[in-house]
Amino acid sequence: MRKAIVAGNWKMNKGQNEAIECFTAMAAQSWPDHVQVVIAAPFTHLSSVAKFTESKSNFFLAAQNCHPEANGAFTGEVSIPMLKEIGVTHIIIGHSERREIFKEDNKFIARKVNAILEAGLIPIFCCGEPLSIRKSNNQQDYVEQQIQESLFQLGDSDIQKVIIAYEPIWAIGTGETASPDEAQEMHAAIRTMISERYNVEIADLISILYGGSVKPANADEIFSGHDVDGGLVGGASLDPVIFEQVINSYPA
Ligand code: PEP
Repeated sequence: MRKAIVAGNWKMNKGQNEAIECFTAMAAQSWPDHVQVVIAAPFTHLSSVAKFTESKSNFFLAAQNCHPEANGAFTGEVSIPMLKEIGVTHIIIGHSERREIFKEDNKFIARKVNAILEAGLIPIFCCGEPLSIRKSNNQQDYVEQQIQESLFQLGDSDIQKVIIAYEPIWAIGTGETASPDEAQEMHAAIRTMISERYNVEIADLISILYGGSVKPANADEIFSGHDVDGGLVGGASLDPVIFEQVINSYPA
């Protein structure tokens, strides 16, 4: 059975005290047992909020990025062992903001995927097309290339550990959401890509999250898609009360 996951990506928001306040509030919330909740906080807050995730068995801490090398002369970077040591279990990679602003390509992201899995952590691998590609109806080929070049080097047991987040770039932070049908269609296509490269059983085990302006008003419709296993949520994860509503929108 694939896991239901609702992950929050805080991006470069919140000071340390505010982060602690949010984690304190989240530790006191009640969430459905079958939904895993992951928060990707800024690097500087991770060690002070890690202890709050111990309050629940379905609460996890993520980083928003990492470097694929374990150590060395990479000024300003943070390694996977450093993150693991302070209690991080998941790492977001390939977010469209990293791809667009920081020019990360599929090959570099593949190195991160490999290193995260080697360290025993879980990559949340983001993929998704820009508006121009969606307008020309080439979104499935575009996403397939991202997945092929960053994930298909993995063997049967490693691919099952990856969480995929489909995030159409035109829907991130724009208030624009893919319709539930558009989301489901792409999620089903991703599952087919995986079953063709691996097999149906493996494809069925992989959680595929939708990201792009998910909020309480649309979460239950989006999450109802057969191949939609949860969400990666930016803006609506910043307020713990709003995020709790998104988490509780996941079907029972
Ligand atoms: C994101 O940052 O991954 C995201 C989906 O943001 P938002 O929910 O704000 O569109």
